[in-house]
Amino acid sequence: MLKNEIFETYDQYILSTYSRVPIAFVKGKGMDLTDVTGKKYLDFFPGWGVNNVGHCHPKVMSAVRDQIGTLIHIPNNFYHPNQAKLAKEIIRCSFPGKVFFCNSGAEGCEAAIKFARAYGHEPNVVHGKASRHEIITMTNSFHGRTMGALAATGQAKHQNGFHPLPPGFKTIPFNDIDAVKAAVNDQTIAIMFELVQGEGGINIASKEYVRQIRELCTQKDILLILDEVQTGMGRTGEIFGFKHYGIEPDLMILAKALGGGLPIGALVVKRAIADVFKPGMHASTFGGSPLVCKASLGTFKAIFADKMLGNVKKMGPYLIDRLNGLKKKFKCIQEVRGVGLMVGIQLNIEGKGIFEACLRHGLIINCTQGNILRIMPALNVTKKQIDKAVHILEKAISEVAS
Ligand SMILES: *Cc1c(COP(=O)(O)O)cnc(C)c1O
Repeated sequence: MLKNEIFETYDQYILSTYSRVPIAFVKGKGMDLTDVTGKKYLDFFPGWGVNNVGHCHPKVMSAVRDQIGTLIHIPNNFYHPNQAKLAKEIIRCSFPGKVFFCNSGAEGCEAAIKFARAYGHEPNVVHGKASRHEIITMTNSFHGRTMGALAATGQAKHQNGFHPLPPGFKTIPFNDIDAVKAAVNDQTIAIMFELVQGEGGINIASKEYVRQIRELCTQKDILLILDEVQTGMGRTGEIFGFKHYGIEPDLMILAKALGGGLPIGALVVKRAIADVFKPGMHASTFGGSPLVCKASLGTFKAIFADKMLGNVKKMGPYLIDRLNGLKKKFKCIQEVRGVGLMVGIQLNIEGKGIFEACLRHGLIINCTQGNILRIMPALNVTKKQIDKAVHILEKAISEVAS
């Protein structure tokens, strides 16, 4: 198909839920994407946080190739070694607990919400009171587009037009411990948030805030749910973001990079409460198939064997340092912030023009919340690639901002 034929066919046959950029990609390798005309791009926002190990990483590809010729799918009322191995690997890297597999971030959040509601209904945890059900979430959070996850998402722009949403959610300002204390009451069953808000604009939870929420949750038997869909799988320089904070959550949600490009999500629940979910209470037809679990095992292998966490710890500060260099040059840059390779540039102008100029020069980044550029290259990015990206970004900003 030629470029225009692809666009026209989309127009005719695909629901217009996305505002798309007129580029059709056909090939990816590592940090590079190639479009249908043969033009090459340096991808500093691979798959919206999906391709943490780069496009078509050899370890993921060989895992998938190996599995796809053997067995792709079995139903979840049977067993498969890949799901067992993957759950064990996730627990080895996080905290003692058990895993439920699904297919996306939103589904992981739905599973967490349902788990919290079920926990609130457990007679032995309600201390003789009526069941607790309320879940506290944060402004500018993002948890997905299904109705429960959407109700948890503290952004009116995503919710508008879809009311009524499921009740039982309370949204409060992010990084404000007094707001948490004021919001908690005898109906509260969970507090759910991202350690670094991604879609919300790279807003970083402070250590003290997270420590105090953990303490409050423990004290009041409230579940601490961390949405690590974007901060997980090495993005911040630790395999999971909570490792920076010296705490452990009660529930953790994973997706995006978990499958190295294949669709997989997971809910991780700490061991002491894991048996709240009993047979029949929750399910997913595709969840944790032999194929996606193999891809995910290949992804963990790629991250650890290629020492990507160490690279993130070196390249994250280098990227931020280079971007702070641009901040000195351009008045439109207000702040550069990030953890590991999850980096945002806050502008005092609209970011769309810069995003488009970058594309023209062959660099893919992201613009969120109108004025925040989001930069999240693959975890094995090199200094040379960062230098190239910063050079293009500089050119793009000088074109747009002058
Ligand atoms: C992307 C994202 C989701 C939703 O994931 P989907 O796979 O698109 O449903 C949920 N939470 C966070 C933090 C995300 O970044």
